[in-house]
Amino acid sequence: MRFRYVFLAALLLLTGAALLSAPLSRRVFEGSRSDHVVVIVDAGHGGEDGGAVGADGTKESDLNLSVALRLDLLLGLCGIPSKLTRDSDDIAYPDSAVTTRQRKRADQEYRAALIGGTDKAVLVSIHQNTYPLPGPSGAQVFFGSAPGSEGFAKTMQEMLNGLCRGKRHAASVSEDIYLFRQASCPSILVECGFLSNPDELALLRTDGYRAKLALVLAAGCLRQYHELEALYGKG
Ligand SMILES: [Zn+2]
Repeated sequence: MRFRYVFLAALLLLTGAALLSAPLSRRVFEGSRSDHVVVIVDAGHGGEDGGAVGADGTKESDLNLSVALRLDLLLGLCGIPSKLTRDSDDIAYPDSAVTTRQRKRADQEYRAALIGGTDKAVLVSIHQNTYPLPGPSGAQVFFGSAPGSEGFAKTMQEMLNGLCRGKRHAASVSEDIYLFRQASCPSILVECGFLSNPDELALLRTDGYRAKLALVLAAGCLRQYHELEALYGKG
């Protein structure tokens, strides 16, 4: 068995009970100053924005949150500071946002402000993919334009390719995504799998697979942490 899998298996055993339990929430600190890189764990969509939907009605936003909560927990166990952009499906929209479009925009602006206001931030945004045909599967990592993003994405992609059946390559993120246009820190967007692929959707619906995804994402953050710290003049 290769070292990576031994490592992941050991970590899974150590944290399995906590990971498989009901969603857990943790906030390391609320202040914006930090001596170390802070991973912003962004559960994509949420509230009135469910994101993509599987054929069985599975909402992307729910899967994203489940993986994000576990990743946040694991980062804490690894000693890596982290912040969640949301820790539930309830989003407190401002009264001034009346339409769904305004509410989504206000939520994105809040997340961008959280990232922008966090010292030594690194963004990991968690999403699920979809495609008009059922064939495509596997995780894919996209990177933002800030230095450090591409290397982080390639590391994470390599790690995820060890877990997923469909092997993919890291690519630059779409310029349409508001959060990534706003973020000036190293940033990656992880599409964990395809809701449009029935086999992968069935996997994504299991707690165990989402726990494995979170473990791989945490391991990717650990592996790249020194380089990310170096970007901010540490390490
Ligand atoms: Zn999404």
